[in-house]
Amino acid sequence: MEKKNIDWSNLGFGYIQTDYRYVSNYKNGAWDEGCITTDSNIVLNECAGVLQYAQTVFEGLKAYTTEDGRIVTFRPDLNAARMVTSAQRLEMPAFPEERFIEAVEKTVKANAAFVPPYGSGATLYLRPYMFGSNPVIGVKPATEYQFRLFCTPVGPYFKGGVKPLTIRVSDFDRAAPNGTGNIKAGLNYAMSLHAIVSAHEEGYDENMYLDAATRTKVEETGGANFLFVTKDGKVVTPKSDSILPSITRRSLIQVAKDYLGLEAEEREIYLDELGDMAECGLCGTAAVISPVGKIVDHGKEICLPSGMSEMGPVTKKLYETLTGIQMGRIEAPKGWIHVIE
Ligand SMILES: *Cc1c(COP(=O)(O)O)cnc(C)c1O
Repeated sequence: MEKKNIDWSNLGFGYIQTDYRYVSNYKNGAWDEGCITTDSNIVLNECAGVLQYAQTVFEGLKAYTTEDGRIVTFRPDLNAARMVTSAQRLEMPAFPEERFIEAVEKTVKANAAFVPPYGSGATLYLRPYMFGSNPVIGVKPATEYQFRLFCTPVGPYFKGGVKPLTIRVSDFDRAAPNGTGNIKAGLNYAMSLHAIVSAHEEGYDENMYLDAATRTKVEETGGANFLFVTKDGKVVTPKSDSILPSITRRSLIQVAKDYLGLEAEEREIYLDELGDMAECGLCGTAAVISPVGKIVDHGKEICLPSGMSEMGPVTKKLYETLTGIQMGRIEAPKGWIHVIE
């Protein structure tokens, strides 16, 4: 199959329209059979539930070309399951998990010409999402929904080398206790935009959000979970009901234990323990792990010993092992790699 004429290695993280996307509609209590379409536009009533009350949830995952030329996705079953959880919290009908996998397969196959070649560092980012589509003016769930899945090729995350991030402890909260922080919903991002724009204006790359109830514990950033390595070599990640359960973070914990023989645990992590950390990274589908070099808490600088010029040694091993698994260079745990073709 002929690939599109794209300069893969110089792609950024932006929307490039591809040829096909998957659509299924929910009406009268049931999902239709769904199909692939070339139409990238959605026509909605002015009063659609998503436009009035933000009834929408989404997912994010990637398709890769492996070393031996197969097109694969990484643990799409976990994205499918998480989307069901997200939908239920917003009173939306679940999109069946096996249908989600089918939508991934069909969309990636149809757009195979857009899957970046092995070695380019680029990947095909997949964006499944669903939203309330019928008119809703009184506050209540919609009765009709649309599920869509489109894809867009994205460039290598660490173009021009790894550059550790400087982040700040935010005065804004991302998620309330018993709120919606643990689901992947657009509403969690709308309210993070002011915090991220002002962080950038002040020269920071990201916000570290604390637990809203006590503001003593580390939660996550706007779109990635934290992973720390303690000075005695243990991998730790924050535990909280208001953190989004990152698939990358859960996979890295397992890689730390089973591939690298490290101790790894999910536990509460206090802001005043950060001085005991040797390394810090942000985990998510986009970058796998982006290293953090410095955390600024209202003028007080916490400089990670791993420094501002490279990934810490444990972070680097975690990164290389997980990306090796994803690209087919290292044998994957059973069920992690879903072959498309
Ligand atoms: C999507 C997301 C992540 C990362 O999750 P992955 O499954 O690893 O991509 C982390 N935090 C938030 C708030 C997210 O929305």
